[in-house]
Amino acid sequence: MKEACGVVGIVAPGRDVSYLCYDALYALQHRGQESAGMATFQNQQITVVKDNGLVSHVFADTTLRALAGSIVIGHTRYSTSGSANWTAAQPVYRSAGASGFALAHNGNLTNTDELAEGAGIKVTSMLSDSDLVAELLALEVESGSTLADALHTVLARARGAFSMVVLEANVVHAVRDPYGFRPLCLGRLGTEDAPEGWMIASESPALDVVGAAFVREVAPGEMVTLTSQGVTSVQLLEPAAGKEKLCIFEFVYFARPDTYLMGHQVHTTRRRMGELLAQQSNVEADIVMGVPDSGVPAAEGYAKASGIPFGYGLVKNRYIGRTFIAPDQNMREASVRRKLNPLRENISGQRLVVVDDSIVRGTTTKALVGMLRDAGAREVHLRISSPPFMWPCYFGIDTPTRDDLLAAHHSVEEMREYVGSDSLEFITLENLRAAIRLDGECCDACLTGNYPAPTPVALGKSGGRW
Ligand code: SF4
Repeated sequence: MKEACGVVGIVAPGRDVSYLCYDALYALQHRGQESAGMATFQNQQITVVKDNGLVSHVFADTTLRALAGSIVIGHTRYSTSGSANWTAAQPVYRSAGASGFALAHNGNLTNTDELAEGAGIKVTSMLSDSDLVAELLALEVESGSTLADALHTVLARARGAFSMVVLEANVVHAVRDPYGFRPLCLGRLGTEDAPEGWMIASESPALDVVGAAFVREVAPGEMVTLTSQGVTSVQLLEPAAGKEKLCIFEFVYFARPDTYLMGHQVHTTRRRMGELLAQQSNVEADIVMGVPDSGVPAAEGYAKASGIPFGYGLVKNRYIGRTFIAPDQNMREASVRRKLNPLRENISGQRLVVVDDSIVRGTTTKALVGMLRDAGAREVHLRISSPPFMWPCYFGIDTPTRDDLLAAHHSVEEMREYVGSDSLEFITLENLRAAIRLDGECCDACLTGNYPAPTPVALGKSGGRW
């Protein structure tokens, strides 16, 4: 599974906002490594710089210097297959209106055909859902709407997931869809009494890294507008039946451990997942180890609750960029071996509890179990800190089709046999919710099939048209 994107927006008069945005995007690099971009407004014009590659590849000091001004939006992107080209990088720019505007989007719209047909826009394989929104906004602006009104008109018709930042002259608008599928938060530069600027980001560590204080999460359906005068907010879109449906996998896997979501630090919730998993399905073993990164806090929690010592068994290579698979190599095995290497002396002859966050296709897990056995593990007991992943995601996460999801067509025992572990247990949905201390709602559609919003069943999940 791959996260779809991270977004940033900053208005801070007198500050070098492109440098702040760079640091913030760097903090959100885990949300997308295919491309990065920024748009600033200065001297009555919007400048966009974007390219394929990591944030550090796309921006040099000279580029950041050139991106002057006190207002910026930024984007880091994971592209679904078929759209890993330069034109898919964001922000997307349109010249409509006095200054034009630029848009950056995290999410996935589910009614793109309907939106495109309604506006007479031709659907092509090069048109992303972010391009489509930009096109629809431009049509509204060209027919006389303000950008804020255009956002209301267009996004009221849009279905699916969107956490979006839009820049026009001296203004950044940030909008979250009525379900709040993807995270979005507001921060403040300077003190409460003397603010020096305002900031929007997908996750709170992007605020921390530039010294901004976390103010609050943007509410589902809310539009927050940042200017040099301060922050205003309107409820742009009716919240969906009053229910927030933040993606439950942000807690399990996607978000950084130091991120706060719904008032909870993600690391703490992952530890609790491990604790409850141990209470639910303990086993006799010598050490508990986590699959880096998100499996590690869950493994610590498992160790604490079970009394089995916590240990490190896998080292993760954090510097994997673009990789190539030799034609005669097993792709999954090669990619696992590149990413993870076993600590043989910790593993050899040991009965292991191995905590991981999810099993999707099962091929990666199978390769991992093989690697641990090759390193001398006596027993491998897999514990998974999410329930079986049975349904594809349509709300901003790139997942395989249902046919390719191992849990969709196999019992837990069949899955255990396939991955080759000695035992396999998944946390229950009740325990996952208890670990997050959810009083409200989260989206759990990929675990339950209960999609909170309509799904585009005709939209292929192997890349799709958008
Ligand atoms: S379907 Fe799953 S991955 Fe997608 S938003 Fe819902 S919980 Fe998250």
